Amino acid sequence: MLNPFGHQLRQETIAALTIMFAAAKTQIGVTLVAESGYRSYDNQTSAYHSYVDTLGVEGADQTSARPGYSEHQTGLAIDILDTISGCGTDGDCLGNTATGRWLANNAHTYGFLLRYQADKTSITGYEYEPWHFRFIGTLLAGHLHDVGIDTLEEFFNLPPAPTYTN
Ligand SMILES: [Zn+2]
Repeated sequence: MLNPFGHQLRQETIAALTIMFAAAKTQIGVTLVAESGYRSYDNQTSAYHSYVDTLGVEGADQTSARPGYSEHQTGLAIDILDTISGCGTDGDCLGNTATGRWLANNAHTYGFLLRYQADKTSITGYEYEPWHFRFIGTLLAGHLHDVGIDTLEEFFNLPPAPTYTN
């Protein structure tokens, strides 16, 4: 379904996102923006291929999931920016802002996990993405926060995202 921010997400993700966005406004006065939510297989295919065109296959694989591998295809992942920092969905710009710090420190309260953290590339297989959050529910998100586990790979004992063999 379409969320109030113009992107498709699963209903439970939208509900949690709405609460988190309101909290950011109240707590730090920032208007968050949902930049990208659900992507179909076809959308992910074109996104990946446009990265290949500009970055080559190796660069694209570090930046974008190949079709069939993106969390955005689950409807649980959301890229979050704000209206004031001018940061986009690349580099570590957002991570150095009040918005990025607030999200990293508070997302678990609303059931979201900062999926690809700065020092976890070898574990997740992704470069730092301070804007990319995945809804995992408040129970699991709170637990990971309490025990100090930063990634789903560490919690579920999973390998990093595929490096692909071809
Ligand atoms: Zn993302």
